[in-house]
Amino acid sequence: MEIEGFRGQLITTDHADYDTARALWNGAVDRYPRLIARCCGTADAAAAVRFARDHDLEIAVRGGGHNVAGTAECDDGIVIDLSAMRAVLIDPADRSAWVQGGALWGDVDHETQAHGLATTGGIVSHTGVAGVTLGGGIGYLMRRYGLAVDNLLAAEVVTVEGNIVRASAEEHPDLFWAVRGGGGNFGVVTSFRFALHPVGPTVVAGPVFWAADDTTEVLRFYRDFVTEAPDELGTVVRLGTVPPLPAIPEELHWRPALAVATCYAGAVEAGERAVRALRRHGTPLVDLIAPTPYLEQQCAIDLTVQHGWHYYWKSTNLADLSDDTIAVVADHAYAARSPRSCVVMFHLGGAVARVPHNAAAYAGRDVAHNIVIEGVWLPDESGEYAAAETAWAQGFLQALEPHRAGSVYVNFLDSDETDRIREAYGDHHYRRLAEVKAKYDPDNAFHHNKNIRPG
Ligand SMILES: Cc1cc2nc3c(=O)[nH]c(=O)nc-3n(C[C@H](O)[C@H](O)[C@H](O)COP(=O)(O)OP(=O)(O)OC[C@H]3O[C@@H](n4cnc5c(N)ncnc54)[C@H](O)[C@@H]3O)c2cc1C
Repeated sequence: MEIEGFRGQLITTDHADYDTARALWNGAVDRYPRLIARCCGTADAAAAVRFARDHDLEIAVRGGGHNVAGTAECDDGIVIDLSAMRAVLIDPADRSAWVQGGALWGDVDHETQAHGLATTGGIVSHTGVAGVTLGGGIGYLMRRYGLAVDNLLAAEVVTVEGNIVRASAEEHPDLFWAVRGGGGNFGVVTSFRFALHPVGPTVVAGPVFWAADDTTEVLRFYRDFVTEAPDELGTVVRLGTVPPLPAIPEELHWRPALAVATCYAGAVEAGERAVRALRRHGTPLVDLIAPTPYLEQQCAIDLTVQHGWHYYWKSTNLADLSDDTIAVVADHAYAARSPRSCVVMFHLGGAVARVPHNAAAYAGRDVAHNIVIEGVWLPDESGEYAAAETAWAQGFLQALEPHRAGSVYVNFLDSDETDRIREAYGDHHYRRLAEVKAKYDPDNAFHHNKNIRPG
């Protein structure tokens, strides 16, 4: 098989690398594309889009391959695979970076930190820049510097006609608005230009763990603590069992516990002051907060979410952490059967909330927290496990129903939640996205994603 003008690798079903190339982070997803077009550059992506249109093929676009819903692969179509396009070019003079569409956050952090710079990215280094950014992009730096989309200065997009356009505040501003939260609905984004900020190289960071029995009381303290916290302090709560990471004392491994993970985007002394009350609260099982290389912090939990394990997620935004919400969380968080299943809560606000609602397609700026319920089991664990973890996640979300903010982060939606896509944007943003979709992809060729129908 040949694609005119394509210089990358074409992987067909009989290729020795086919099964590795189609595998996604979520091992529960098992799709069989007809062709994987692994691009070396923008021209390849454009050639692949034209080929797909000429041959009436289903199109999936792959960045880091991490979306839990598995939308980066499709059955019997073409996968436009950017995983070989991971270059990151820094311009230290104007503190910006061009990042190719298949880069992972570890690539960005590695290159930006060489200049003492960083931008808001995901909290796991092997997650893709493209998918994270196109949905919004939350992470430790967001309260100080905004979401990934708030730092996006421009994007290079291959349109459904195979044309290459630049989207920015000046060029195709409608498209630029839409790609900042609207996902991969509008074309293949082959590179992103981000604003960078001075961060690290050493930051105050790390988790404090408490026993599961302390959950209600620690979360009530945490709610008040983060309300007063400076924007520099990013925190993420994790509830489940203590992961067996080398940095954590072995006697604690697999014990039910909650952790508050921290990262302070500022001077070390100020960071130590900002986390003091948290570290002194109650009786922690272990306190691992310390001055830490930012790069190390950004891959601290990589091993807890490994490629090829099976995952099923449920998520919602939370307006606040009321006592009733905390009661539901404490009741359900430790009821999963698998010791790998867990719950993760991000604290938003700060710079995220100060950007006007209409500035970009991302719509969840008014919420203080979001929660992801992550059912996790190993590939060789039985179907019973899958059913149990799935039911646990669904039951947990149902119990949260009265406490939900009425919105959800689009990047955390799983494959059985296409009816919640409008919820991620709200009516106003969804309508506007549908208009942009009608202009840039009227036939909905890019629909293997959190799909917005042309309107
Ligand atoms: C372990 C883990 C940690 C996470 N942590 C965070 C976090 O800290 N913050 C956060 O905000 N999110 C986080 N997420 C969620 C994450 O935002 C989504 O899973 C996201 O879709 C992953 O991006 P990707 O490029 O790896 O995904 P992929 O599966 O490759 O892509 C997902 C979809 O995005 C679109 N897409 C991907 N690349 C392109 C492109 N170049 N051009 C056009 N469309 C494209 C396609 O529609 C594709 O189906 C995490 C996910 C995982 C699995």
